[in-house]
Amino acid sequence: MRFYSTKGSAISVGFKDALFQGLAPDGGLYMPASIPVLGENFFQADLSFSELAQEMIQPFSNDDLPKNELIDICAAAFDFPIPMVALNDNDAVLELFHGPTLAFKDFAARFMARTMSYFQADMDQELTILVATSGDTGSAVANGFFGVEGIKVIILYPSTKVSAIQEKQLTTLGGNITALEIEGTFDDCQRMVKDAFRDDDLRKRRHLSSANSINIARLLPQSVYYAWAWKQCGGNKPIIFSVPCGNFGNLTGGLLTNKMGVPVEKFIAATNSNDVFPKYLNNGVVPEQDAVQTISNAMDVGVPSNLERIKNLYNQDVSEIKQDISSWGFSDADTRHAIQATRLESGYLVDPHTAVGILGLQKYREKTNSSTKGIVLSTAHPGKFTDVVEPIVGEKISFPDQLQSAIANEKSAIFMSNQYSDLKEFLLVS
Ligand SMILES: *Cc1c(COP(=O)(O)O)cnc(C)c1O
Repeated sequence: MRFYSTKGSAISVGFKDALFQGLAPDGGLYMPASIPVLGENFFQADLSFSELAQEMIQPFSNDDLPKNELIDICAAAFDFPIPMVALNDNDAVLELFHGPTLAFKDFAARFMARTMSYFQADMDQELTILVATSGDTGSAVANGFFGVEGIKVIILYPSTKVSAIQEKQLTTLGGNITALEIEGTFDDCQRMVKDAFRDDDLRKRRHLSSANSINIARLLPQSVYYAWAWKQCGGNKPIIFSVPCGNFGNLTGGLLTNKMGVPVEKFIAATNSNDVFPKYLNNGVVPEQDAVQTISNAMDVGVPSNLERIKNLYNQDVSEIKQDISSWGFSDADTRHAIQATRLESGYLVDPHTAVGILGLQKYREKTNSSTKGIVLSTAHPGKFTDVVEPIVGEKISFPDQLQSAIANEKSAIFMSNQYSDLKEFLLVS
């Protein structure tokens, strides 16, 4: 499969190049040249999740990645459970948070790490992955690449601006993972990473790559659990998916699955107060607004980067997008209420991101009276957000096992100014 840039002026590349480049040289995002329709085997066979992943990803990677490698990568990356929990007769939650960092980003990060590691084996230079994080991405990437030979991960995070649990997750792994605690904001971290990629002198001396959410290799694994959920529901009728959205990578994975042939009545793109997308669907213009801070902080994104991919999939036609996707934004007050109501009505505990997804599905049912089976994608474990969730439900949430060891371990980070020159010097000596 070839991948083209949404900006259209870069030459198309194969899977391996799209994986290592992340962003196309013209600043666009890579999209597959075609979207293969799923074969009979997919609809008939009783496949495990990793077999399903291999079946769905192979057409995109087959030029560069041998089938037996892909099979091994999928088996190793997706080795955790993906339970579907019913909330009532029509609604269920798909728990995507049983990976090591307790957020759905483990799917993408674990796949990407193993895939890069496979290609890296042929290269004689060590690969350095640079990643700026405001919290969840950094720990998923760090965990995914932990212990991978020939690859070093350097995480930049803003000092005092990530939660205590997130900081522990970022700074306690050791080994090939280094955390840089930057005296500045997330934007400073992101700027420093971008400066490194623009620095030709550095790039001649160090082999750099990034693992941010625009990488096509992060989207492919995120398409698999939509098909998985649909098959769990019987695999014969269209269903509804409600997705809590920030950068819209998760949703874009679902749209690919739909184009591959899985029937969907509607996708619901549920956002917090960062509601650029619902506004765009309403009036066809992407409003300019800065990100605001909310209790579903992993979705605090001003301009969602995957909007470019969604427009591209639908030929820039908003009315076509609206046929497939409904979208609403919800306030923190709505979200708090949904956490409480879900606990009372279903006995189920949700984190603030998943609560936004539940609100989206409810809104859709109000507007349409649809009683089609609906799945809310649950993107994080409520135990990652005890400070928000505990006071709302009035009970203590136990820390999941995966967090216990991070919390018990000693933080290890290198404190650094927000000057690019300091980062460069560090990269050249380490
Ligand atoms: C990243 C993240 C999201 C948003 O996902 P996108 O693919 O950026 O839309 C939602 N919930 C959680 C917990 C996340 O970490």
